[in-house]
Amino acid sequence: MVNGASAAGPIVRAFDLAAVGQDLAPLLDPAEHGRANTIADTATRREFLAGRIAQRLAAAELLGCEPAALETAYVCPDCGSGPDLAHGRPGYRLRGGAGGVSLSLSRSSGWAVMAMLPAHGLRLGVDIQHIASVGFPGFDGVALSPAEQRRLGGLPPALRDAWRADAWARKEALAKHSGQGLRTDPATIPAFSDGAADGPWAGVVVRSMGPGELGLPDGFAVALAHGGRSGGL
Ligand SMILES: [Zn+2]
Repeated sequence: MVNGASAAGPIVRAFDLAAVGQDLAPLLDPAEHGRANTIADTATRREFLAGRIAQRLAAAELLGCEPAALETAYVCPDCGSGPDLAHGRPGYRLRGGAGGVSLSLSRSSGWAVMAMLPAHGLRLGVDIQHIASVGFPGFDGVALSPAEQRRLGGLPPALRDAWRADAWARKEALAKHSGQGLRTDPATIPAFSDGAADGPWAGVVVRSMGPGELGLPDGFAVALAHGGRSGGL
């Protein structure tokens, strides 16, 4: 595999955000609480905290350490990495140690998926979309390239929203993989290039995952992006 990924690739898990114990919030770092405090809506804030708690627990399990032994170490292609950075690609470092975790997390409709690799600073992106949320007027023009719109037009109407959600999840996974988020025009992100794209996604593998594969209810699309030219920052 590329860039230190295990032979099995990233570990991917889905979970119910409501099932995460909010009593574990004291485990989080000051920068995480700072970001939570900027979220005015209570339900949204709880889901944010649940995601951060779950990803810390999973990262600690992966490294075989205590959750409190990890500090957040987000990576932004523009700003670098550090415990005070609260945006970019998520990751953790062992306090005072050499180990770390690269991670990606996505939330939708009360559920979340995370992908992890057992080293810091690797490129990784995962995304979950609810199929019912993508079939709105104007979606195709904003989200899809002309070629993708033609591909969509060739499908039976009953299959189109599932295809849209899959395409959008793949684009979001690629945007997270690059660390650029949606600063990139989504229509230009090659949802189906499968490693053949030039530029930031050359060699990146994108895989669609079905809800059953992850223990999710029906109605979701999930995509994972990993690998590529530089495993580094
Ligand atoms: Zn930045």
